[in-house]
This record gives sequence, structure tokens and C-alpha cells, in this order.
Amino acid sequence: MVHRYGPHIFHTADQRAWDYIQQFGTFQPYINRVKAISQGRMYTLPVNLLTINQFFNTTMSPKEARAFIAEKADTSIKEPKNFEEQALSMIGPELYKAFFYGYTRKQWGLEPTELPASILKRLPLRFNYDDNYFNHPYQGMPEEGYSAIVENILKSENIEVRLNTKFEDLSEEFQHVFYTGPIDRYFDFRLGRLGYRTLDFERIDSDGDYQGAAVINYCDQDVPFTRISEHKHFAPWEADSLKKTVSFREYSRLAEPKDVPYYPIRLANEKTMLDNYISLARATKGVSFLGRLGTYRYLDMDVTISEALKACDQIDELLAADTQLPAFFIDPS
Ligand code: UDP
Repeated sequence: MVHRYGPHIFHTADQRAWDYIQQFGTFQPYINRVKAISQGRMYTLPVNLLTINQFFNTTMSPKEARAFIAEKADTSIKEPKNFEEQALSMIGPELYKAFFYGYTRKQWGLEPTELPASILKRLPLRFNYDDNYFNHPYQGMPEEGYSAIVENILKSENIEVRLNTKFEDLSEEFQHVFYTGPIDRYFDFRLGRLGYRTLDFERIDSDGDYQGAAVINYCDQDVPFTRISEHKHFAPWEADSLKKTVSFREYSRLAEPKDVPYYPIRLANEKTMLDNYISLARATKGVSFLGRLGTYRYLDMDVTISEALKACDQIDELLAADTQLPAFFIDPS
């Protein structure tokens, strides 16, 4: 029940992905409600009416807040070219600095002007008191944890698992390969290494309730970690019965070759390298590249599943011809 690779909440708008995952385990209803600390004060995220009213010390209605934020937003930015422009055009400078600037510097190790606008577009902005972190209609947590889900998937008699075996060391021929490791590794890094952020977790063991919530973000730059996750709160149906609790401080840094790659950075120079890797991938017959590492995109679990299911739809074509998923499967823009 402790998420070794950081907090994962299953949420989706795709009925097919939702139905698919539920074959392998029961999902309990769960709503992710993230808290945030900025300059010594506590707020709720994503930015909602409570965040706005607490931050500006006001009691505005939805309509008033909308007009207030519209005043602050930089309307001269018509097409945001980077994270900072996206934030300034959406919420204005004060909320941007309080909740996004420091956190994003820590998370990505870069100025927000160097990052794509798409990273911020993941998060909603609301003019009501709904503090559900996600906009998706389906959201839940696996009752037995994600390991049980994966174990159940692997129970299929069509699946054989070989541990401690490097992909490169497989000697037999395959009709078709779905490769979900890092795309640059498939090509022996011959065009260079694509950049990733990795995470370090510092475990905190304590009694009772450590922080009273599943996730608290630390938005200030002078706090070295980005967030603390307390894992029993991801299982509210059993949290109260547990005497002890496990939490993790999460630190982000540039991934070295030996580290686990987590977040694709996708800087401009990496996009060029990626385009070149994609050309190599297109020229590789009988291999399809899938998933967060295989396509070097910031994918959530549900999108990864949706895309894998779409790949399955095409399996007959793929096996019949010595080919690959069309156009690298999904346009990696
Ligand atoms: N973000 C931020 N402050 C926050 C939460 C998020 O600046 O308190 C920014 C940050 O750049 C982050 C991005 O929004 O990388 C996406 O956040 P999300 O919560 O989706 O990140 P994840 O849970 O995937 O690490």
C-alpha cells in the first residue's frame, strides 16, 4: 500500500481504461485533495475559490473572483509559449509566485520560462469550492494496492515473466516487440541521452497521523523537497485502523544514467533529439514503442493503458505485416 515510486492516484475520463483496470482489482472511491504550504500558510489545491479567498484575504463569490483574477491575468499573452506565460495568462503573478514558481523550480530544476506550457495545463483552475485535484469523472484507489493489480494482470496464461533479464540479452526472435523501456536506450543512446528528472524519497515512520492528509505540497523554494505523501491516507477505508504511518518527503533532481527515470523533461534540444530517435524508431520494423519511457511523454497511468489497448486493437495487422504501430503510434508533440 506504500507507493514506492511516489503517489499514484488512478483517475480517468476514458471508460475503456476504467473498465479494463477494474478487471484486476476492486477500486475504492477516492478523491485526491491536495494541500499546499506557501509562505507559512496552508491552502488547498488546485487553485480554487478557497485558495483565492484565503490568499487575498477576501470573501469573494465565484463571479467576483472570476473578475478579480481576470484583472490580474496577463491578457497580452494570447498563446502562452512556456509554463510561466501559461501561468501569468491564467492566474496572474501573485498566485503564480506563491504556488507554482518555487515548486516548479524544484521539480524541474529549470526556470519556468524554459518549460512547456503543457505541464501547467494538467491542473484545473476553479471558481468554486471544489478542491478535487482532478477533473476526471472516474477516480479511485486499488483496495489491495497496485502490486496486486499487476500480479493479477500477470496471471494470464499468455504472459511469461522473466526477471533479471535485460531486453538486450534476449536472443530469440519475436514476431513483434512492444518496447516500453526508454526509447534512447533501445538505440544504445547513439544520438545522446534524453533528459529525465528522478526522485529521491526520504521515509518518515511515525505513530498515528503524521500530517492529516495524503499529500501536502511545499511550494516555497527554500524548502528542499516538493511534497510529503502520507500513504495511509490514500486508503481512507482502512487508515483509521492503522496505529502507525509511513510518509515520504520527495526530492526531485536530474536523473543520472544509474537512476530510475521518472519525468521526461522535453526541453527544446531534447525535442530535436527525440525527433531523430523517432525517425530511427520508424525505420525499425516489427517494434512498436509504447508508454511513458517508450514515447518520452509525461503520461498518466490511464493514458498509458488507453494507448496500450489501442495497440491491442491493431495487433492482427501488426502481426500480419512486419511493421509497427503507425507513425510511432501517437504523435509525440
Ligand atoms: N505544480 C506547482 N505547484 C504545485 C503543484 C504542481 O508548481 O503545488 C506544477 C509543477 O510544475 C508540476 C506540475 O504543476 O510539475 C504538474 O503537477 P502534478 O501535480 O500533475 O505533478 P505530478 O503529481 O505528476 O508530479
